[in-house]
Amino acid sequence: MKRQVRILLIDGEPGFLTRFGKTIRESNDFDYVVEVAPNTDRATTLLARGGYHIALIDESLCGNEYELLRHSVSATPAIPPVLLTCSPDPASDTRAFNCGAVDALCKDELDARRLDRLVRHALRQAAISRELSSLKHDLRVNSHKIEHNDEVIDRERHRREDMERRLEAQDRDYAMLFEKYRAIYENAVEGIFQTSPEGRIMSGNPALAAILGYPDLESLLANVKDLAHTVYADPARRQAFLDLMKRDGRTGDFEVEVRRRDGSIAWLTLSARSVHDETGRLLFFEGSAVDITQRKEAEIRLIHEITHDALTGLPNRGAFIDETRLRLDSNRPDFALALLDMDAFRIIIESLGHRRADRLLVEMGRRLAMELQAGEMVSRPGGDDFMLIIPETREETVRARLKGLQRTLSWPLMLGNRMVVPSLTIGVTFGHPGAEPEDLLREASAALEAARRRGRGMVEFFRQGVHGFGGDRLALEEEIRRGLERGEFEVYYQPIVNLRGGHITGYESLIRWNHPARGILLPSTFIQAAEDSGLIHAMGDFTVRSVLAQHRLWRLAGHEKLVASVNFSVRQLMDPELPTRLEKMLRDAEMPPQCLRAEITESIELDASEQVSVVVQAMARLGIRLAMDDFGTGYSSLGNLKKYRFSTLKIDRAFVMGLPDNLEDQSVVRAILSLARNLNLDVVAEGVETPEQAEYLLSSECASSQGYFHGRPMTAAGFSEQLAAAG
Ligand code: C2E
Ligand code: CA
Ligand code: CA
Repeated sequence: MKRQVRILLIDGEPGFLTRFGKTIRESNDFDYVVEVAPNTDRATTLLARGGYHIALIDESLCGNEYELLRHSVSATPAIPPVLLTCSPDPASDTRAFNCGAVDALCKDELDARRLDRLVRHALRQAAISRELSSLKHDLRVNSHKIEHNDEVIDRERHRREDMERRLEAQDRDYAMLFEKYRAIYENAVEGIFQTSPEGRIMSGNPALAAILGYPDLESLLANVKDLAHTVYADPARRQAFLDLMKRDGRTGDFEVEVRRRDGSIAWLTLSARSVHDETGRLLFFEGSAVDITQRKEAEIRLIHEITHDALTGLPNRGAFIDETRLRLDSNRPDFALALLDMDAFRIIIESLGHRRADRLLVEMGRRLAMELQAGEMVSRPGGDDFMLIIPETREETVRARLKGLQRTLSWPLMLGNRMVVPSLTIGVTFGHPGAEPEDLLREASAALEAARRRGRGMVEFFRQGVHGFGGDRLALEEEIRRGLERGEFEVYYQPIVNLRGGHITGYESLIRWNHPARGILLPSTFIQAAEDSGLIHAMGDFTVRSVLAQHRLWRLAGHEKLVASVNFSVRQLMDPELPTRLEKMLRDAEMPPQCLRAEITESIELDASEQVSVVVQAMARLGIRLAMDDFGTGYSSLGNLKKYRFSTLKIDRAFVMGLPDNLEDQSVVRAILSLARNLNLDVVAEGVETPEQAEYLLSSECASSQGYFHGRPMTAAGFSEQLAAAG
């Protein structure tokens, strides 16, 4: 198959076109496709469109400037132009080359063989020139590249040089910095460390060793293999550190309590970050440790100060209320709250001064704290009160616990040259759902009031309404006042019996209230209120008058030796008018003062209050006899026995109760009896309820006895009957 060659024939001469058509058909080598441009305009358009293997251009159409030739050559890809000349002219070849044509062809000499050869030549020429131009292009590109490479190499070199310069400078800087940091590191007050996740110190600075109490770094590194157990005071805190680092990767203020080498405690705050390798594996922690022990101690002191009572060091009211609330909020508020009140503390302050009274409080606080059992909490809210939480719900258990505490706390103690036997009166309530701490405190203090009414050293539990007056003191006082006016009070008499002979030697007068609504009320329900309101004086006068009137009758009935014991509370003894009134009452009743025996409970007031001392001495001067009531409990000062010339000791019921089996009670009772013998005092044992107790007391040479065994407190009529029966 012949190769197809596309020819653009630029010629306007029709004769030649016919001839040309004939010639191309005779071609052996090519299959010519011809397109004709008859004028320059058409020629220009077609040349611009391109797609020809060769352009044959009539010389006459080329124009002076051979414009068409240039078009042809500059077409892309270039179309090799062949110049068509009219006559065979030896100069035409030269001309053609000069103006850029690849060849020249004389129209007259045109034949197929010549055309083919010319086309072949032109095609080869074009191929060569294409190759050449591609080579040229490559060359150009390459030379460009080379130029560019040179530039790159150059730049690279510059950069390297610059880098080297900078590195050198940096090295110098680093050396300086290193020196600087080494100095900082070595001389830092902060401990700087790298520690392994397992708890080894990998490196540290001298300050780290110093903070942890080691003489140098070597000994620190040698001794600490496991931070959690050799350094951290609480190993769990190390775990907290590890957890934090795992979560955040860093910390700026991790506070930790550590143990120094000598065992002392220090507080550190750590800044640290975790360091990982490229794969994210944790390598170590690094950071710094600042010793904040002083600050921490101040902080702890401050917290302690805020939550503790300065005097006793016990938790204060706020801390106690917080704790109470915490326990109330727990699902089961199963605890008792007790309010402990020091008896007669005001008197202690007045007589011994604040400093010693404070010492007493400190000592009580110390004893309480020492006695504390698991789950209990003690607090000093202020004044002479203590508060206690006991994790118990059974009343008997709580009562036993408090009684035990009362015993321990009442150990005698020397304040100056005075011996004080402290005693506590206690009010108790139980936690209950829905209660606020303040509710419990209110309940406990109502119970305390009730306990106070029953007397010193009592323990009373809060019971809604059981106290009859529901804690409404004003109403109670008003009722007492009216009761006195209306004659609702009555004196009862309890026989005091001579154990050897079994005969009645006297009695103790005990007041009762025949309350119109509540029946017969015992002194424990109203005495305290009477004391607090001052009504005790009127009440006491009523008792004395009643007793003297009754006594007079019994004397007239032949019982001349009968001794009338009347109770006087300290409050009554503070009344400077009391001796004068007593004197008058004795005179009015025409009774000798010796028949009257004032029962006075041992107390600090008796020991220390000038006022009380004056009154008691005046009573003694009148000839009234004195009995020391409830001996062995409360405040003890044997000096008082002599000072006021007591004639009688009453052994408290508490010691008689355990007879005859309890060894402790036995020894107390025997000691009191021997003391009494030495001081030449009468003894009355109180609360004798059984024949065995009476038997024991008799065999221990106790002269007198009083108690349900011999007779309950009874009305005057009842007592008259008993006297008559005895003969
Ligand atoms: P106290 O002086 O210790 O009186 C003895 C108390 O023991 C009385 O209680 C009496 O009833 C009770 N008692 C007597 N024998 C026995 C016994 O065998 N077993 C038991 N379990 N108890 C016995 P009471 O009458 O309730 O009086 C309580 C306190 O009230 C008295 O304690 C006394 O301190 C005070 N008091 C009574 N009357 C007066 C009074 O007129 N004036 C004053 N200031 N106080 C009084
Ligand atoms: Ca008494
Ligand atoms: Ca008594």
